[in-house]
Amino acid sequence: MWGSMSERTPFIVGNWKMYKTVAEARGALTVFRDAVRNIDGVDCGVAPPFPALETCAATITGSDIALAGQNLYPGDEGAFTGEVSAPMLKAAGATHVIIGHSERRHLFGEDDTLIARKVKSAVDQNLIPILCVGETQEQREADETAEVVTAQLGGGLTKVKSAGQLDLVVAYEPVWAIGTGLTATPAQAQEVHGLIRDFLGDFLGATSAQETRIQYGGSVKPSNAAELLAERDIDGALVGGASLDPSSFAAIVEAAAG
Ligand code: PEP
Repeated sequence: MWGSMSERTPFIVGNWKMYKTVAEARGALTVFRDAVRNIDGVDCGVAPPFPALETCAATITGSDIALAGQNLYPGDEGAFTGEVSAPMLKAAGATHVIIGHSERRHLFGEDDTLIARKVKSAVDQNLIPILCVGETQEQREADETAEVVTAQLGGGLTKVKSAGQLDLVVAYEPVWAIGTGLTATPAQAQEVHGLIRDFLGDFLGATSAQETRIQYGGSVKPSNAAELLAERDIDGALVGGASLDPSSFAAIVEAAAG
């Protein structure tokens, strides 16, 4: 079941980045799938590396676990060596795709113009984008968090319709908290999630903004997930490191179920 206006179902997604071979992905996902089978009141998903997508799709058949790509390139096909398109992700079984992850922005130089094309490509193929936004430590210290996050959101959404229904997940991931062990406090995260919700209200209208799930990402683990998710506008988590171990990933899902 997906989030509703009055109550958004938390959505926990594991981003496996460039970890796990096909066999390792199958093994970890099998353990995770069995561990979360009886947990209600939370949606979850996994974003494996591209070669493991199809195997993961087979592994989660019959479960409620969603499958996400970690990236895509705009367009259906073409001479773009090393890239993967939205139709290819869909054909492999994905329903979601992470776009604009800070590693893509900072290590691979992706800007909002490219990210906007990626979001449009996903939406055109009915893949739900998980659009990542977040400030660096330097930007936070310069008091630029609100400006940076709203510019990334606005930039990423420029090519999709600005009102009404848009199947979208936003992930607020402060760059300084990703893979560092540093976590935003629940209050720090809620403050930014609140302004993301306000931005979405202006962009999509109040109803869609209330329905859109905003995940927090940045060193989420079993011990801090519940307090983050207790905040009003934190509707789930994008989890990197802690999602690699299926029992700690399942413990986060359990914490989100309350
Ligand atoms: C991420 O990669 O999206 C992430 C939040 O990583 P970690 O949980 O390891 O900080």
